[in-house]
Amino acid sequence: MSVPMHRGQREPFVWEGGEVLAYKESDGTFRSVTRQVLSDAEHGQGTSLRYFEVGPGGHTTLEHHEHTHVVVPIRGRGSALVVDRIVPLALHDVVFVPSWGWHQFRAADDEPLGFLCAVTVERDRPVLPTEEDLGELRRDPAIAAFIRV
Ligand code: MN
Repeated sequence: MSVPMHRGQREPFVWEGGEVLAYKESDGTFRSVTRQVLSDAEHGQGTSLRYFEVGPGGHTTLEHHEHTHVVVPIRGRGSALVVDRIVPLALHDVVFVPSWGWHQFRAADDEPLGFLCAVTVERDRPVLPTEEDLGELRRDPAIAAFIRV
């Protein structure tokens, strides 16, 4: 298969030449999330660019890992836990998730949250929090109120 040089939007936030996938095998740690892979190893950058969309009231998995993320919201509104802060997300903000930083993205209750997320092609698997990790995270009341597991 040749590498595409242009992928137009087939409809808003759905790009040609790919599939809209379930975020992960359902493990109960996320709610209402889809994923599209926009670029990957074949584009030769060593990075993969994905578009995730979280439905209203939904959230991604609370996780951490060695690899990092660069995230740019392009649809809707929401907020995120990034390491030890709850960050409000507006369109075209830029969020950096550092190595081993806890993170979880949540859509607003009445709007989806769609974001581009860049990662390295070679990357480790996400690690979920232990009960001990959750205890530590919940020592901050704002984080305790925010996280969904
Ligand atoms: Mn992650």
